[in-house]
Amino acid sequence: VIHRVLAIHYTYIQKHGDKMPLVALQDAFRDDWNSEMDKPIPIRFNKQDDGQTVDQGVSMLQVFHEQSDVPVVKGVEVPFAIPLADPETGIELDMLLVGAFDLVTGGDKVCLWDHKTSARKPTKDQLGDHQMTIYRHAAEMMGFGTPELRLQYLIKTKVPQHLVIDIQRSKQNIREALETIIMITKAVDAGAFFRIRGWQCHDCAHAYVCNGGSS
Ligand code: SF4
Repeated sequence: VIHRVLAIHYTYIQKHGDKMPLVALQDAFRDDWNSEMDKPIPIRFNKQDDGQTVDQGVSMLQVFHEQSDVPVVKGVEVPFAIPLADPETGIELDMLLVGAFDLVTGGDKVCLWDHKTSARKPTKDQLGDHQMTIYRHAAEMMGFGTPELRLQYLIKTKVPQHLVIDIQRSKQNIREALETIIMITKAVDAGAFFRIRGWQCHDCAHAYVCNGGSS
């Protein structure tokens, strides 16, 4: 929900050149939340009930509104679909790398943003995943030049925090990411499957496969 509301906020900035009023931003959050609650899909709450979750989202947006800047917005939720090529041979595979930039802003350079919500501040390791690497690669393939990369965190602490982190990615990072994607697709084609146990198993829809038939 927070992601969709930030998209509404930055679309407003793109149109009006200024922040959306805080009350309108928080109302957009409540409306989107209520429409999620009306769907026939059960929501599993973690330590908080419905009202507490809404209150937290509203106060996160207040902190965001107070602390975030007004960038020059070039695009919101900008999709990309680029050919996937083997970095070793340059040969294109019959496959596209598909995704969307949460936010594209202008300045001296194009800047690609990704919005995150998190229970705590990210560790250095969490900032090293392939997502922003693929962002850089996609931008270069789309003719944006080498972009700046930025993560914007809204952290769900008792007093919410807003954090903006600039990220660096190298050509070597791109090579490694592409090699990893290609290796994974080969493994999938070959029917290889390794359990990677972790927090993500808790809500995994495929857990019955790993757990011998029981979820
Ligand atoms: S339960 Fe899901 S997340 Fe966990 S190892 Fe199996 S497939 Fe992966």
